[in-house]
Amino acid sequence: MLLTCTDVRKTFGASVVLDGLDLSVDEHEVVALIGASGSGKSTLLRCVNLLTGIDDGTITLDGEDITDPKINPDDVRQKIGLVFQSYNLFPHMTVLDNITLAPTRVHGRPVDEAKSQALEWLARVGLADKASSYPDRLSGGQQQRAAIVRALVNSPRLLLLDEVTSALDPELVGEVLTMIRDLKGDTTMVLATHEMGFARQVADRVAFLDKGRVLEQGPPEQVLGDPVEPRTRQFLARII
Ligand code: ADP
Ligand code: MG
Repeated sequence: MLLTCTDVRKTFGASVVLDGLDLSVDEHEVVALIGASGSGKSTLLRCVNLLTGIDDGTITLDGEDITDPKINPDDVRQKIGLVFQSYNLFPHMTVLDNITLAPTRVHGRPVDEAKSQALEWLARVGLADKASSYPDRLSGGQQQRAAIVRALVNSPRLLLLDEVTSALDPELVGEVLTMIRDLKGDTTMVLATHEMGFARQVADRVAFLDKGRVLEQGPPEQVLGDPVEPRTRQFLARII
């Protein structure tokens, strides 16, 4: 397993947000997290990226217990790419500079090498002509694609995507989903999404979160098409 969350508990004051959550993700697997707003999807992704600490349980990445207090969070984050629903690019930097910032400044990679790799990625996702543009010249969909490229140039072991299409106008959602679908097989991904059609298309496994636990998980056609748990059925009936 690349990622294993075992009995993870996370509280904010009196509210228990992750309540004994178990989830394992294999290398190259794509796991879609679904569940009602407030079920803990974003919190889980933030815990995996060590943006916030957990109260109990363990999270291992690549066999290493990343919740061990002795671990260096920067080393862990270097192995993980995280993209949020919006505000991902720095507005005062070109797309290319946004993408090469971390590789050159944080990871000490040579600028030329980082630039050529960034340009390769931009070309692959159809954004080669936007390299020297500022983010406000790009559509929301193009910005999100560039943000995903920025996460990918560090060659993360794991890519976490948190509702990356939620802030987009409906006509821009497709291009971002297509890009993510094209990454399948290259990268291990855990993505929180409200797009059930997309989860069905791209995910190897769908995990339904309810009150901070994985209540049900399995192949998309099973969890989305013929769920076992009444709460999964209720959730799907509400949103589809
Ligand atoms: P989801 O992404 O599934 O909608 P979240 O992980 O964002 O769910 O939120 C789960 C619960 O945790 C919500 O009740 C939310 O209000 C609470 N929560 C999230 N972040 C914080 C925080 N920083 N402080 C207090 N409560 C939080
Ligand atoms: Mg969320």
